[in-house]
Amino acid sequence: MSRLEEGSLPLDKMIKKAYRLIKEGRIERVGDGTYNIIGDHGTYIVATGYDGTVSCSCPGFTKKRRCSHSLAVILLTRGLVSTLEREIKQVS
Ligand SMILES: [Zn+2]
Repeated sequence: MSRLEEGSLPLDKMIKKAYRLIKEGRIERVGDGTYNIIGDHGTYIVATGYDGTVSCSCPGFTKKRRCSHSLAVILLTRGLVSTLEREIKQVS
């Protein structure tokens, strides 16, 4: 998890942003392991690999190898949304 904590955007902020994308229905599955994400600044493509890797077409991911879009897809595909929901309700 330590790699995720590096960078300018704090992890909890990124998780909340990812959670919001899921809740607002801004993630659309467009193909096998491929998702359209309607972000705040544009629509991006997140692709997941068979080995568990994800990539996103947004500038943030290109620079830092992580972003709220790819995180949202990870949470969604691994069934972690309800777990996250409980965590968020506890802290906010
Ligand atoms: Zn992204």
